[in-house]
Amino acid sequence: MSEDCLFCKFVSREIEPDVVHETSTTLAFRDINPQAPTHVLVIPKAHQPTIADLAAHEPSVVADLAAAAGAVAEQEGLGEGYRLVFNTGQQAGQTVFHVHGHVLGGRSLEWPPG
Ligand code: AMP
Ligand code: ZN
Repeated sequence: MSEDCLFCKFVSREIEPDVVHETSTTLAFRDINPQAPTHVLVIPKAHQPTIADLAAHEPSVVADLAAAAGAVAEQEGLGEGYRLVFNTGQQAGQTVFHVHGHVLGGRSLEWPPG
């Protein structure tokens, strides 16, 4: 747990997010500012700033995140497809430095992204 980290407060339930899926190592909840009909964030319960940091310190949890994203997509009926995005670093738009995968779906998604 990292003090003053919003997503650590979600994990501890000091603040209660809109949870859609949970495992022993991951938590998934709805994004407060959805960019698609389904916009869910999937996070590790352990605090790591980026997906690369998570891979270096807890590689099995990277697989847990991918599996959780797939479970969320199935639960949300995203059989037509979804995007799993890890914005990494400020220039890529990362604003919360507790790693999170965005599960986006329910509409067609442009490529390349902006
Ligand atoms: P990123 O910009 O990739 O770091 O993503 C951070 C995401 O966290 C954004 O999509 C925000 O809308 C989302 N977010 C920020 N605060 C909250 C909150 N209190 N509950 C749910 N999602 C949030
Ligand atoms: Zn954290």
